[in-house]
Amino acid sequence: MRVFSFLGKGTNKLMLYTPYRTFLSKTFPAFRKVRKLSLNGGMTCPNLDGVKGTGGCSYCNNKSFSPVWDKASVSVADQISEFIPLIHKKYPGAGILAYFQPYTNTYAPVERLKEIYEPAFASSEIAGVAIGTRPDCLADDVMELLAEENRRKPVILEIGLQTANDETLKLIGRGHTLAEFKDAVNRAHLAGLLVTTHVILGLPGETAEDFAKTAHIVREMGLSAVKIHPLHIVRGTRLADSFAKKEFELLSFDAYCEAVALFIRIVGMDTAIERFSGESQNNMLIAPEWSGNRNQIGARVEALLGG
Ligand code: SF4
Repeated sequence: MRVFSFLGKGTNKLMLYTPYRTFLSKTFPAFRKVRKLSLNGGMTCPNLDGVKGTGGCSYCNNKSFSPVWDKASVSVADQISEFIPLIHKKYPGAGILAYFQPYTNTYAPVERLKEIYEPAFASSEIAGVAIGTRPDCLADDVMELLAEENRRKPVILEIGLQTANDETLKLIGRGHTLAEFKDAVNRAHLAGLLVTTHVILGLPGETAEDFAKTAHIVREMGLSAVKIHPLHIVRGTRLADSFAKKEFELLSFDAYCEAVALFIRIVGMDTAIERFSGESQNNMLIAPEWSGNRNQIGARVEALLGG
């Protein structure tokens, strides 16, 4: 297994992985710092509205992972006007990356998508646009629209994968396959878009072999960045019921950090690591209680990587 490292620019610190800020500064060289601005485009998800399924992914409760989950009835233009001054106040001079976050943000007819995205592409205060979606909601006409918008400002397509194991994808009710993910990523790259993904380490029944397989896919697909999360059990989900019945166990803090270190060693330096922990919002978290301890997770992972 390759171990990747290099000296951080202007420091003697050994870089053990490529941080997301490095990817952002390459993508937006005019800014020293770039902050994400979460936006709600008012869309739902085919895995919730009955087109693919009604129960959603077994771990999903958008209230737990998006600060704007309840802004569906507020126009995108109004969200931008409300939140941009807050970012400027907290991070003066930062570039702003609009982030269509909750649910599936390519799930509408292409003409409607154009209207939803327009305030972000038209705003002189927004440097780029990130769009979170599923692999099965990226038809060719959507890809063409995104390629067109990408000529106005950079588009970062965040395509959720979670795991490269098709059996697990079925078990958690994702409603798509690894092959669909690969096809979507290939077409997005052909359209000239930057592509990132989200993965979960510790899904029911998965082992280090599955984490390694997912990491190899991330690497082989040439993704720009990956968000790594531990499995969160949040209120109001099927997984919460299953967890209460003790049908599976969560990774311990140590086992999760080892899984992240293994994942990063395989992914290497070409894919930036956007995060390797995550907080749940709105008091929705049931377990694991350590998942919000970013600093502790970061320190342990770096120690395991040899930092
Ligand atoms: S694809 Fe996303 S929004 Fe849809 S059910 Fe799954 S996690 Fe929830």
